[in-house]
Amino acid sequence: MEKGDLMREFTYQWNPEEYNHRGKEPILKITKSSFGTFQWCPRKYFHSYVERLPQDQTEAMLKGTIIHNSRESFFKSFDIKKAESYSHNELIAYCLSLYPLDEYVDMYETMAIFDANRFMEAKIDTVENYLPVVNEVKLDAEIQVGEYTVHLQGIIDRMFLDGNSHIPMEFKTGLWKDYKTTSMRKEMAFYQLLYENTPEKILQEKGLNQDIPITHWGWYYPASNYIHIEPIKKGSMTAVMKGIAQIIASYEESLFPTKYFARTCTSCSYYGICDAVNSESWL
Ligand code: SF4
Repeated sequence: MEKGDLMREFTYQWNPEEYNHRGKEPILKITKSSFGTFQWCPRKYFHSYVERLPQDQTEAMLKGTIIHNSRESFFKSFDIKKAESYSHNELIAYCLSLYPLDEYVDMYETMAIFDANRFMEAKIDTVENYLPVVNEVKLDAEIQVGEYTVHLQGIIDRMFLDGNSHIPMEFKTGLWKDYKTTSMRKEMAFYQLLYENTPEKILQEKGLNQDIPITHWGWYYPASNYIHIEPIKKGSMTAVMKGIAQIIASYEESLFPTKYFARTCTSCSYYGICDAVNSESWL
């Protein structure tokens, strides 16, 4: 497919046997979330995306949605000209005023201090790069994996410009733990794959320039006051391609195995119907 052409329909209810390279049947859809769920547990993926069984809405999910929306609004409302006239303390107050008054005010305070400090640094350097180039942008791409074309989709929280580099930053409302590094790298590599394969026309419409490469990526966990930026890791990109191939293989074999972990499975929405729970919990 030429970049800029219309994309094919896509679905999670994909049947590889009907796949035809030039056909009209929907191709496999893979989002960052569905990819992550498959990595977590292929059976959970099957229940959630293929069977479309509802999932319980947890308090953490609700909190995540509210704070993500607040963060998006913050960047939409932030006025650089106004901010330039403020002292550090005034800047903190200004940043805080851009967040809503709800039960997550402690988190907003941490973010306001972080954002004010970042602005003070940007004022010395390049204030025009303070705001992200894109703020919650959805991208769509098609890639070739073996004999199949698959559709990738994801929402990049924010992408910043630094010199001649784009830096996607993921925002998380949970607590940071070092063991999350590997999965965070895979999330960021998924974004990079998506960005590099999104048709140029779509990127331009969203305000992105594909000539500017992603050289670094990062994540911000305000609940732990933790931010991390690092050069991209080629190994993470390989891991994402391997993960995509595993999803395809599961569809081909109609096999979505369980990944049972006593500690984490109790929070799974499908705990009650999972055959691994009965067999594994008695071992
Ligand atoms: S209970 Fe555990 S093994 Fe079963 S579907 Fe959920 S995550 Fe997978």
